[in-house]
Amino acid sequence: MNLVLFGPPGAGKGTQAKILQEERGLPQLSTGDMLRAAIAAGTDLGKKCQAIMASGDLVPDEVVVGIIAERYDQPDCAKGAIFDGFPRTIPQAEALDAMLAKRNKKIDLVLELKVDDAVLVGRAENRVKQTVAAGGTPRPDDTPETVKNRLAVYYKNTAPLLAYYGKQGKVVSVDGMAPIAEVTKAIGAVLDGVKG
Ligand code: ADP
Repeated sequence: MNLVLFGPPGAGKGTQAKILQEERGLPQLSTGDMLRAAIAAGTDLGKKCQAIMASGDLVPDEVVVGIIAERYDQPDCAKGAIFDGFPRTIPQAEALDAMLAKRNKKIDLVLELKVDDAVLVGRAENRVKQTVAAGGTPRPDDTPETVKNRLAVYYKNTAPLLAYYGKQGKVVSVDGMAPIAEVTKAIGAVLDGVKG
């Protein structure tokens, strides 16, 4: 199964993707994690993306489309994957559809995690506090101004994907404000329905 986890920044996509990866054996393909790994490794790609990510803007479509295509061709994606944080623009969604079609695959389901903006801003603040309390360095894009920009970018560029996938009849929404375990349960019920 090829699944897109969809929702605004801080909706809990990464948290749920990791649980799904464990429970369903589908790899989590997070473009955010891949880009952060490239930055940490100091690659040319990482250098190109660092400032863009810190500002909360989107890196160019061809960059993420390229890293996803390469990652998807790894053997662990043979039975599908969980796309987390990708696609984020209409051209990315079109490129993903084309990439999958070439491999006789398709997106089976788009799971939307619905969360109010005020909750999202609070979650980013908490993430910073918890990271600092644990002695770590917070993500540079979790500052209040950058979170606001990430939300604006989400509404402008990414939210239109709901209509794109809606036309394909693939979107199912889940309440992302429920406790983590309940969100997991709701997602599980949806996935079992799709499979069965
Ligand atoms: P979040 O979902 O919390 O915003 P991510 O880890 O998914 O965080 O993404 C962090 C940043 O990485 C984004 O703000 C953007 O700059 C970049 N990024 C990640 N995925 C994409 C993508 N598909 N297209 C463009 N930029 C992306």
